[in-house]
Amino acid sequence: ERINQIIQRVDASTPLDQWPRSLFEVSSKTRRKDIILNSEYIPGAAIAAGLKNGPTSLLNQLEQSGLRGCGGAGFSTASKWRFCAAADAEKRFVVCNADEGEPGTFKDRYLLQAHTDRLIEGMTLCAAVIGSSTGFIYLRGEYRYLLQPLNEILEQRRKAGLLGQSILGQANFNFDIKIHLGAGAYICGEESALIESLEGKRGIPRSRPPFPVTQGYCGFPTVVNNVETFCNAAMIAQRGPEWFRQVGTPASPGTKLLSISGDCERPGIYEFPFGTSIRDILHACGAQQTLAVQIGGAAGRMIPATEFNRTIAFEDISTGGSFMIFNQNRELLRAIENFTHFFRHESCGFCTPCRVGSSLLAKQLSKVMVGHATAKDLDEMSILGSLMQKTSHCGLGQTAANPILDGLGKFPSLFQSRLRATSFEPAFDLDASLE
Ligand code: NAD
Ligand code: SF4
Repeated sequence: ERINQIIQRVDASTPLDQWPRSLFEVSSKTRRKDIILNSEYIPGAAIAAGLKNGPTSLLNQLEQSGLRGCGGAGFSTASKWRFCAAADAEKRFVVCNADEGEPGTFKDRYLLQAHTDRLIEGMTLCAAVIGSSTGFIYLRGEYRYLLQPLNEILEQRRKAGLLGQSILGQANFNFDIKIHLGAGAYICGEESALIESLEGKRGIPRSRPPFPVTQGYCGFPTVVNNVETFCNAAMIAQRGPEWFRQVGTPASPGTKLLSISGDCERPGIYEFPFGTSIRDILHACGAQQTLAVQIGGAAGRMIPATEFNRTIAFEDISTGGSFMIFNQNRELLRAIENFTHFFRHESCGFCTPCRVGSSLLAKQLSKVMVGHATAKDLDEMSILGSLMQKTSHCGLGQTAANPILDGLGKFPSLFQSRLRATSFEPAFDLDASLE
């Protein structure tokens, strides 16, 4: 009942470009004011509140709220903004990572469409805190259809004095936003590859540190945050940190938007307080006879039914927003194969462990699928996977083996049942003859 009170759902069968902007406002019957999807919003309200209190107070509010990055990693948002503001430079930049490329994640595209003002206000407040006059929204290439409506809203806000020169009449506060369209590479969702792409170069991840907060866009200090993080920041400026902390856990305050897909009656976009168990989420979306849930996208973790009491929280299972459900009729190994091929395709090719490793893993898994693999192949996959985790240059390669490693660890019978019945036996057994 508690879950039913807080969830909001979009019917996933409706193509996104046909969703009315006011969908939640008109369809919401279970309104609760203290969640992001449903709360009242008046354009300009967050900026007005933030500017009235001043950047220092805003940063303190953000700190007290405990807001953590919603892209998946959960780094403290206040610390990120504070580090950037403290960096010695003549320019600073604000970047919104809207390159939502993680398989099974589609909550940012809804926020971009239905809560655009909130997003822009979060970015504007960040600009006020760090002292920036330019921001970018790095929009996923596949979300091209959002470009025009987003630009229209930016223009409306300029006309309303909420963006551009002298925002809300403050002579010394100028900030504007440009939209940069990606070209479909998953790796450009990694923040340093995104910055490279923004600079007009090929999207290859940089070595970190230095982190973007000190050396980001064109070498200047840059805050890169996810769409949902900026939306939350705007709401905290408007409603205060205590409001934000009303739900969630002490280490993961607030709520998390989840893109729920797969084997359930009501797939869609949901908002849950951090600390909600997987079991409760499955119940809320009408999932039955669930075999496993893949949380955090292709690079995330495959959670078996024995672990459904675990919770969505940075201290337990973190996710950028992807929640894929597989019921007992699914062939999990096919899903693992799909993820593995995805990484082979999306590896940027810069470093050897990921470029070669992702290809080898895909080949070995194909061997398992057709029944030609032996136990030795499974051992090799394990060794290769952990090598990739330890030696790859960026998060993509470090997590590309997760589906296979999780599969081998948690669902070993999926692999073992497909092994070749007998492994190769030499005609002449040297060991036996020596005895
Ligand atoms: P990370 O932990 O390295 O960094 C997280 C953020 O904190 C970054 O912005 C980074 O610059 C900042 N940061 C970390 N340490 C810092 C420091 N000492 N000083 C200043 N800033 C610091 O994680 P990551 O590699 O950037 O991102 C990985 C996450 O991205 C994963 O959790 C994954 O789930 C998620 N992801 C999301 C999507 C999506 O579509 N939403 C796609 C792929 C991956
Ligand atoms: Fe590119 Fe993969 Fe290396 Fe990352 S780990 S730099 S995606 S090759």
